[in-house]
Amino acid sequence: MNLRAVKGMNDILPEEIGRWHRLENTFRELVELYRYEEVRPPLVEPTALFVRQIGEVTDIVEKEMYSFDHHGEDLTLRPEGTAGVARAYVEHNIHTREPVSRWYYLGPMFRSEKPQKGRYRQFYQAGCEILGDPGPAIDAEMIDMLVKLMDKLGIKKVSACINSLGAAGTRARYREALVAHLTPLKAGLSEDSQRRLERSPLRILDSKDPRDAEVIAGAPSILDLLDEDDRAHFESLCRYLDRLRTPYVVEPRLVRGFDYYTRTLFELRAEGGELGSQNALGGGGRYDRMVHELGGPEVPAIGFALGLERILLAMPEKPNPRRKSVLLAPLGESATAEALAIAKSLRSYGIAADVDGRKASLKSMLRRANATGAAFCVIVGDTELARGIVQVKDLNAHSQEDLSRVDVARILADRIRSSHPPGGA
Ligand code: AMP
Repeated sequence: MNLRAVKGMNDILPEEIGRWHRLENTFRELVELYRYEEVRPPLVEPTALFVRQIGEVTDIVEKEMYSFDHHGEDLTLRPEGTAGVARAYVEHNIHTREPVSRWYYLGPMFRSEKPQKGRYRQFYQAGCEILGDPGPAIDAEMIDMLVKLMDKLGIKKVSACINSLGAAGTRARYREALVAHLTPLKAGLSEDSQRRLERSPLRILDSKDPRDAEVIAGAPSILDLLDEDDRAHFESLCRYLDRLRTPYVVEPRLVRGFDYYTRTLFELRAEGGELGSQNALGGGGRYDRMVHELGGPEVPAIGFALGLERILLAMPEKPNPRRKSVLLAPLGESATAEALAIAKSLRSYGIAADVDGRKASLKSMLRRANATGAAFCVIVGDTELARGIVQVKDLNAHSQEDLSRVDVARILADRIRSSHPPGGA
């Protein structure tokens, strides 16, 4: 049998996981400083949740969802995080406990898109949502936090694009203006955009097809159609961003792929680098109607999601962390039992250790110790044990010495701690 991973779904191997941990830990630490708390909704939700919230004529709902019937229930692997979070918020009546909730999540999403670099069918997102605050102060804070996060991750060339979609009515008016502008130019548009003109004209603005670029550049700006309240909201957002000294670019043709957005909309784009056309690192916006539409009260909300694979592509490489584990290399039967005991004792000091149980040659065990990045290899031999000692190889200093069997764990733990202070790696 030749079974392989599903197309567009990747294995993340232990050799790559260090960068993932660094990204996830940096994200968690930063957002918790802004008082976000983690929420973990299920990966599977009722299909209707996404169809209604994301919008029936969006790419995601029309062709990208992993939906299935399970004993008569229509279920879908979540293609994004916000709808599930809002569902959980309503289901648990969170608004009765606190006026404002700040939640974050981290985990896999599923979209059946055409796989390419930076675009996969299972991919990871980290996102934040604030429910219960109409903005725009916290909108500015959220965008500023994202810029800060990129800085912490060492990603230099990013721009934060912002726009406002206004309230629901504005979108409808903009749609009309856009269709009026694009219809006479229809013949020059790409086939995809021609098809979208009737069903989802706003999505044309997202097109990467060069045939559409000129027409899009000449399209009307939604900002010109904002009503007074929406305009004031957007102007305050810009003022707060100015005050925070957050760099941003107003991008009146930014629309993004979900129907649920209202007012503030933003996207983080990487300039240059490995990402090519998949240069959106993340984005988000307000979804002031969603909680009510899901059966909850009128609770305004805003959120974003970051694509972790894309951020990893944009993140600079860091040198490997320094060696700090111990490999136990037993030679013989009673030596193996002692090696297990020494390893257990090392772990009780907080030092990572593993025992080579293969009954392999000393040479091969030392090779393995080097390959796994161990700081020390402890060679446990029956003859040495009879004398109450073990041999210790320092793989950084390339030196060897005999240490007492009784003290070896404590001594190595002390050495590793003093040469590798916590957080120093
Ligand atoms: P969205 O949920 O569509 O607003 O996307 C937010 C971010 O998730 C994007 O900016 C990407 O970084 C990432 N993303 C979206 N779709 C994919 C995908 N198919 N593969 C990898 N990353 C994705």
